[in-house]
Formats: sequence, structure tokens, C-alpha cells
Amino acid sequence: MNLKKSVKGKNKKQTMLFSMPTPQPAMRLCCPHCGNDRYFLEQAEDVTITTRYLQNPDGSFTAQSDESHIQGEVKLFCGECKADLTNFRDKFIEMLF
Ligand SMILES: [Zn+2]
Repeated sequence: MNLKKSVKGKNKKQTMLFSMPTPQPAMRLCCPHCGNDRYFLEQAEDVTITTRYLQNPDGSFTAQSDESHIQGEVKLFCGECKADLTNFRDKFIEMLF
């Protein structure tokens, strides 16, 4: 019992290391055309960007906020070969942080 107590701290550290989730290679998005798994592009069509401005006493303007509204389709492309990967976009959104 006493021996167990003395190594408790060490055991705790080890458990934390082992409980860390290891990245699964299968979870990675990979371009089926060129094998690229690092660079991706997202392109939105028909985007309306509204920016609010405040005019200062000296006549200059300061942007207050930006609002973007996407009416069209949002597509995902491979950053290397530009292949359309929109079919994989659900997975992309899932892994977007
Ligand atoms: Zn590609």
C-alpha cells in the first residue's frame, strides 16, 4: 500500500500520455488525383460583403464591422492540382477548427 502511494504521481503522468488521442491517418483528407493532403482551397460563389463605416469628424471613415452573406455554392478544391473536392467538403467542415 505504501509503495503504491509513493509512485502514484509518476503513474498519473504516464496514464495521461497514453490517453492522448493518436491521430488516425485515415482521418486525413487526401486528394484522390494527386495525393496532396496539405493544401486546400475553398471558394464561395455569389458573396455579398457588407461593411459598416463610421465617418469621423475629420471626414475619414473607420470600418465598424464586416458581414458576408454567401448566396451561391461553396466549393472545395485541391491546392495543388485544383481538382474539385467539393464531395469531401463535409469531412473538411468536420475537421475545421
Ligand atoms: Zn490534387
